Amino acid sequence: MTTTTSKRVFNFSAGPATLPEAVLRQAADEMLDWHGSGMSVMEMSHRGKEFIAIHAEAEKLLRELMGVPSNYKVLFLQGGAIGQNAIVPMNLLRGHAGFDVVDTGEWSLKTIKEGKKYGQVNIAASSAADGYKHIPPRDSWKLDPGAAYVHICSNETIGGVQYHAVPDTGQVPLVADMSSDFMSRPVDVRRYGLIYAGAQKNVGPAGVTMVIVRDELIGQALPITPSAFDYKVQADADSMFNTPPTYTIYIVGLVVRWLQAQGGLAAVEARNREKAGLLYQYLEGTQFYFNPVAPADRSLMNVPFKLRDPSLDDAFLKGAEERGMVQLKGHRSVGGMRASLYNALPLEAVAALVAYMKEFEARHG
Ligand SMILES: *Cc1c(COP(=O)(O)O)cnc(C)c1O
Repeated sequence: MTTTTSKRVFNFSAGPATLPEAVLRQAADEMLDWHGSGMSVMEMSHRGKEFIAIHAEAEKLLRELMGVPSNYKVLFLQGGAIGQNAIVPMNLLRGHAGFDVVDTGEWSLKTIKEGKKYGQVNIAASSAADGYKHIPPRDSWKLDPGAAYVHICSNETIGGVQYHAVPDTGQVPLVADMSSDFMSRPVDVRRYGLIYAGAQKNVGPAGVTMVIVRDELIGQALPITPSAFDYKVQADADSMFNTPPTYTIYIVGLVVRWLQAQGGLAAVEARNREKAGLLYQYLEGTQFYFNPVAPADRSLMNVPFKLRDPSLDDAFLKGAEERGMVQLKGHRSVGGMRASLYNALPLEAVAALVAYMKEFEARHG
């Protein structure tokens, strides 16, 4: 139907973030009339057959793409990943006094702060002392064998550190906030008790949080748990105990289908490695910019970097914008720059960024 030609920027935003252009075009084409229904997806009853089909398809595609075993529930909830900092302990404490957290940065700190409202939080390891430049090695963790679960943040979006191996926590379930690296690489779901992720980094617009949880862990929520945030209640209702974020779920379904068409998660990871590799390789060879993170723990998704001379920051950002590269300003808590290289960001965007960084260095270095 409509094929508007509009100028798209290279969007390095940390989230909400760039989406695949093909998905946006399809959504535009289907905006007024989804598959002959005569309605936009936004206008559909969540109980109607059209939306039930859209929801079921999104879940089926997600299960296929990630290889989610049948003894895991996939839930589409609201409240954001930050909401899960309360919702996970309310559901997963199961009579235990508390849980373990590995503190790798800003997002872990939020988990710790919120979790303390519901139980004892044991910080099993922390990289705070070195400014969160690495993931504490597994053999340094002081886990509590009585913990309900061990919480990690698989990718610290602000600090740019990422787990590149799944830590072994024995019989204690592993819980991961994968908000900023969800579906960016293959995941062995069996290694986790629970995975959660907000959609707006890698897989869709803001508004839905996906929770993948092993069956046996649900059904023992604290009595204070709001029903809409009780995993068992939502699982029994197919995530429709209350009105789900229907349009967001539809877009997530389109993005998952797009990821499948890219060749699946192994192919997606290979492309993400290529993109991040281009930028890190350049950062390794220059004195003008630097990335503080230990090389083994660098994130493929979020690359913070600084100019040695911060008085040039504004000029750098202005020049980037003039060249159609936006949202490169670092998080306010760390300053400098941050390039987020999520699934939908094309390789050409990273190539353009590196070319511009070289040019800027040649001019000011
Ligand atoms: C973005 C982000 C969140 C926050 O999610 P909300 O949707 O704002 O609640 C939580 N954790 C991580 C790792 C993130 O990157």
